[in-house]
Amino acid sequence: MSWTLKRKAQALLADEQGTVSKDWGGKVAVALVYPNTYAVGMSNLGFQTIYRHLNALPDVVCERVFLPDPEDAEEMRRSATPPFSLESLRPLRDFHMIGFSVTYEGDYINVLRLLAMSSIPLRTADRRPHDPLVLMGGVCAFSNPEPLAPFMDFVVVGEGEELVVELIAAYRDGYPDRQKLLTSLAALEGIYVPGEYDVAYTTEGTLASVAARAGAPAVVTKRRLRNVNAFETVAAVKTPHAEYGHMALLEVGKGCGRGCRFCLEGQVYRPVRHRSVDALRDTVAQMAASGERRVGLVGACVSDYPWIGELLKVVEENGLELSISSLRADSLTEDLVAALARGGHRTLTVAPEAGTERLRRAIRKPITDDQLMTACDLVRAHGIPNLKCYFMLGQPTETSEDVEAIPALAGRMLERLRVLDPAGRPFGRLTLSISSFVPKPWTPFQWVGFDGATSLLAKLETVKRGVRRLHNVRVLHENPREAALQALLARGDRRVADFLELAASYAGDWRRALREWEGDADFYTTRDRSTEERMPWDHFEVGVKKAGLLREWERARADGAAAVGAAAVAAGAS
Ligand code: SF4
Repeated sequence: MSWTLKRKAQALLADEQGTVSKDWGGKVAVALVYPNTYAVGMSNLGFQTIYRHLNALPDVVCERVFLPDPEDAEEMRRSATPPFSLESLRPLRDFHMIGFSVTYEGDYINVLRLLAMSSIPLRTADRRPHDPLVLMGGVCAFSNPEPLAPFMDFVVVGEGEELVVELIAAYRDGYPDRQKLLTSLAALEGIYVPGEYDVAYTTEGTLASVAARAGAPAVVTKRRLRNVNAFETVAAVKTPHAEYGHMALLEVGKGCGRGCRFCLEGQVYRPVRHRSVDALRDTVAQMAASGERRVGLVGACVSDYPWIGELLKVVEENGLELSISSLRADSLTEDLVAALARGGHRTLTVAPEAGTERLRRAIRKPITDDQLMTACDLVRAHGIPNLKCYFMLGQPTETSEDVEAIPALAGRMLERLRVLDPAGRPFGRLTLSISSFVPKPWTPFQWVGFDGATSLLAKLETVKRGVRRLHNVRVLHENPREAALQALLARGDRRVADFLELAASYAGDWRRALREWEGDADFYTTRDRSTEERMPWDHFEVGVKKAGLLREWERARADGAAAVGAAAVAAGAS
């Protein structure tokens, strides 16, 4: 092993609080892998939670593995060092199980790169009896795991808190007979064994069928945690090297009841389950007792937490500062913004998503311009110097007026932020964070085609041009070509696995892989799909009914068409 890499790993561990180091003797060894860098992975509360739950089992040792930083990857190649765990510096292939925590489609290629760097056969069909079992969990595992299916011995579909105990018991029962093991795993609710399903395609290239073999369920049902109060979701390990390393993260619940039509999390984490204030009170007190100074509340929509006022008091009574990553502009309260300001918040973030009220209604996020102005008032009144707004381009029913409305809205918000300053202090900055809409599975927009990188680049240019005349406004954006990659992976089927394999063989150069891949990316991304078409994720049940999605899709089209029609009539009349 490279001494440079070993020293780096030891330095990271030395800066951590809460690392679990266990003896391996007689235990099931699980490598928990985040297919991105340490800084990103350690900010993920789901990853941290599973680390804690697995290590709480006496017969399990769980250690963390991350994608190396680029300079470390180079050193790995030079010194022939395979990816290794932080805790015991053991290579990935020494573990019984390798569990990837996958929360972002862009990390799929990294999953394969880590396996390849570890000399573990990528495809399950090529693995030998002594190879580790490879699995994936995380939100991608229950939105659409199909592009990764040929590489996964099994997939954890849903929330894993309870499931880990059953999973380890099944492993102990079946070990070392790989097939017996997979058969007993397939019988667990929430476990998907892709090798137990045969996939067929129509002559047009769409999916014809996904047939379960004997013993596997025809439809895989998502596992959901029934009692959220029974499991604490807090970061197990603290490190200054994570994005949110300066605060203790605390999940206030799971799911969101708002039903925004573009939002995957709002659909697949249903039903909404809030932790009780009593359950959170104990955790907050423990955080304070262990010397924490700041608590970051985490959840799909924290400002909708029904007892937010009470929780704010608990946080302040314990002498902790408060942080929340993003808030809904229509559930902002004076108390909440004041508490954030007292907690030293320098930026308040809201997500209007669209420039016009019309489009916001069509995507079912009906925040009004007035509510955004009120958010400006609160930010200014409480001395928070920066306001950040998330927008998405390329949403269904979007028109050029909707795009042009984004800089116009930014201009009005900026005026409001300036006007309100009673002490004449200069306002810090308004940031527009612009992303590209990717139609996700399990949402009412799952049938809509992705807008396409060329169109999105043009819209982005319209926004940038529009804000050039404004001072104190900056635009952050992702590359729409990367959104196109995300669309391919979010909406793809098992045939997309060939593309992933090619990209991994080119050290992650997906642009080159896309040029050389024999498949047609547009078939998966920009093509509108018939509501009759079988989707790659139709053999899962995640608690979202197709009939309900269809109803919402019809309503969105009706909302969009009515408003566009009304605008055309108004324009004609004037
Ligand atoms: S409020 Fe936020 S989390 Fe909830 S559905 Fe809408 S976008 Fe998703």
